Amino acid sequence: MARDDVLIVGAGIGGLTVALCLHRLGFDVKVYEQTEQTASHGAGIQLSPNATRVLHEIGLADPLASIASEPGVIELRHWRTGERVTTAQLSPAKDTYRSSFPYYHVHRRDLIACLTQAANNASIPVYRGKRIDDVGVNGTYAWISGPTTRERASFIVGADGIHSRVRRCLFGSNTPSFSGHVAWRGVISTATIDTKAPSTKAGLWWGPKKHVVRYPVRRGQYINVVCVERTSQWNNESWNERGDQTKLIAAFNDWHQDVTQLIEKIDPDACYRWGLFNHAPLKQWSQGRATLLGDACHPTLPYLAQGAAMAIEDGAVLAQCVSKSSSAEDGLATYEKIRRKRTARIQKLSRRNGHIFHLIGPAAWARDMLASRAGERLLHPIHQYDVFTSVNKHFKE
Ligand SMILES: Cc1cc2nc3c(=O)[nH]c(=O)nc-3n(C[C@H](O)[C@H](O)[C@H](O)COP(=O)(O)OP(=O)(O)OC[C@H]3O[C@@H](n4cnc5c(N)ncnc54)[C@H](O)[C@@H]3O)c2cc1C
Repeated sequence: MARDDVLIVGAGIGGLTVALCLHRLGFDVKVYEQTEQTASHGAGIQLSPNATRVLHEIGLADPLASIASEPGVIELRHWRTGERVTTAQLSPAKDTYRSSFPYYHVHRRDLIACLTQAANNASIPVYRGKRIDDVGVNGTYAWISGPTTRERASFIVGADGIHSRVRRCLFGSNTPSFSGHVAWRGVISTATIDTKAPSTKAGLWWGPKKHVVRYPVRRGQYINVVCVERTSQWNNESWNERGDQTKLIAAFNDWHQDVTQLIEKIDPDACYRWGLFNHAPLKQWSQGRATLLGDACHPTLPYLAQGAAMAIEDGAVLAQCVSKSSSAEDGLATYEKIRRKRTARIQKLSRRNGHIFHLIGPAAWARDMLASRAGERLLHPIHQYDVFTSVNKHFKE
C-alpha cells in the first residue's frame, strides 16, 4: 500500500531526522527550509545515547563516527580552586543500554551536513531558500504556503525551531519568559593552544551564579566553550547576537586560571551571546493533519544537553506512530501523547539544573558532595531511554 505524502517545514536537526525516519518507513517526504545554506552560527551539540540510538537505526553510525568526538567522561570542577569534584561517565559501558550507543560531541554544522547528505542519498527533496509563511488543515489534506511555495499533502510537520511560524499559524503566539541566564558561546582552534591542557575530556566548572562547559568538536580540531552567567534583563532570544569578549573575560576574571586562559583564547570575532528563555510546555502540538516537532514545541534550556536529542527522539516516534496508525490524524495524536510527558519532564529537569549549577555557600558544598557520590546516576536514566521500545509498548497496550 502506498504511504502518505508529508511536507516538513525546517531542515534543522529535527526536520531532517524525521524526514529520514519517515522515508525509511515508506513515506513520500519533502522538506522546505528558509535558508539558502546551513547556518554557520552555533557550535557544539551533545548527542547522548538516547539520540545516537535513533541515528544508528537510520543508518548513520559510520558518517556520525566520522564527524564526532567521543568524550567518554566529563570532569566536574570547582570554579575557583579548579579541584575535581567528580568524573561522570558519559559513554556507557558495553551492554549498559542493552546494546550500547555512543555519547558524542559534534559541531552543529557537521551534524546538519551529515543529515543533509543522508537525505540526498535517499533522494529526499530538501528545498532551500523556501520560507513558509502559512499552513492549514482540513479534513482531507494539509497545506503550506510561502512566497514561492504552495503545496499540499496528507500531513505536515512544523520542525521550524524556537520561533516556529507553524506553531503561530496553528495555535497563535506564546510569550516565553527570560530565564535570567545568558550564555556566551565561542570556539577555540586547538592549533592555537597547548593540546595537552584541553584533553579530549569534557569539562564543567560550576560556581556562584555562573558555570562554564568545555568540550572538543570536529574530532578535536576545536574546543567548544559555553559560559553562562546570571543577568537581570534581556530582550532577544537569538543565537546570532555578537558578544564582546572583553566583557566575558571581565565576568569570569576571578575564576580558576584554567577557565580564564580558556576564555582568553576564544576567537573574538566568533564570540556570541545568547539569552536563555523559559518556555512553558504547550497545551497542544497537533491539529488534525498538522503537528510540531523539536524546538517548535518544546524549546529546552541547555543544562541537560538534551535539545537536539529531544528533536531526534521526536522524529523517530512520529514516524513510528503514523506508520502504525490507521490514519495520519490518529498517528499524530499518538505521537503527541507519547512525547509530551517526556519532553515536559526534560524541560523541567533542565531548568532545575540551571539552579543547581549556580548554587552558593553550603548548598553548593552539599551539591558537590552529592555529585561525587551520585554522579552519572542522575544522567543515565535519561540516556537509557529507548524510543522504539516506548512506541511498541504503547501500541501493545
Ligand atoms: C543558528 C542556531 C545555532 C544553534 N547552536 C546551538 C549550539 O551551539 N548548541 C546547542 O546545543 N544547540 C544549538 N542550537 C539549538 C539546537 O540546534 C536545537 O535545539 C535542536 O537541534 C532542535 O532542532 P530543531 O530542528 O527543532 O530546530 P532548529 O535547529 O532551530 O531548526 C529549525 C530549522 O527550521 C528553519 N525554519 C525556521 N522557520 C522557517 C520557516 N518559516 N520556513 C522554512 N524553514 C524555517 C530554520 O532555518 C532551521 O533550519 C542552535 C540552533 C540554531 C537555530
